[in-house]
Amino acid sequence: MVEGAQVQHLRVTYNDIHNLIRKATPKIAEFDPDLMVAIGGGGFFPARVMRTFLRGSTGKKTLQIQAIGLSLYEPLLGTTAEQIGNEVIRTQWLGPDAGKLLLGKRVLIVDEVDDTRKTLHYALSELRKDVLTELNTYPVHEQEKLLGSTKFAVFVVHNKLKGKLAELPAGMPYYSGADVGDVWLDYPWEATDIEEHDRLAALDRTS
Ligand code: 5GP
Repeated sequence: MVEGAQVQHLRVTYNDIHNLIRKATPKIAEFDPDLMVAIGGGGFFPARVMRTFLRGSTGKKTLQIQAIGLSLYEPLLGTTAEQIGNEVIRTQWLGPDAGKLLLGKRVLIVDEVDDTRKTLHYALSELRKDVLTELNTYPVHEQEKLLGSTKFAVFVVHNKLKGKLAELPAGMPYYSGADVGDVWLDYPWEATDIEEHDRLAALDRTS
């Protein structure tokens, strides 16, 4: 969706997001992730909150959050107009040991919103490439077991119910805090005046 005057906006508060994550946690605890990969910047806050709830329900002492940066909408220096919105651009990735970090793990990919699904599709296919590169360093007889124990799942705070431009692998666990229409979500971390943002969000609710 292109942000514009005609687009309906939905203001979301930090508390809304916190509560959506709390409600989604019991299902995600069944997946029992070993590691979270947060897609920045919108996935960072949700991943951190999710860790609090997951630690509480799975009893895991450590649950690492790794960060990747992907951009579809943000105009970046050096990108052409065609790339913006059409192509996913990596702004940050896991280090040289990406494959080692992922292989054999249950990995939860976290983002704030699934809009066209291009970002999630890109993240997942690139993370899988890292897994396969690492897998090739193991003897063939060990590979099947290692690959079988590597699992991916996705959590987004909001999933927009709309025609998606990319697909995720069939059967992969997918969790959303809330399914919404094709609206533009205004997140609290984008607000410069958080009190005003919260005040307008409360007004939206009563109107
Ligand atoms: P997708 O690749 O699914 O089209 O878009 C994912 C990214 O686009 C999100 O991580 C987010 O940065 C941005 N995006 C998509 N829809 C929205 C929205 O409604 N509000 C905001 N603030 N960002 C959005």
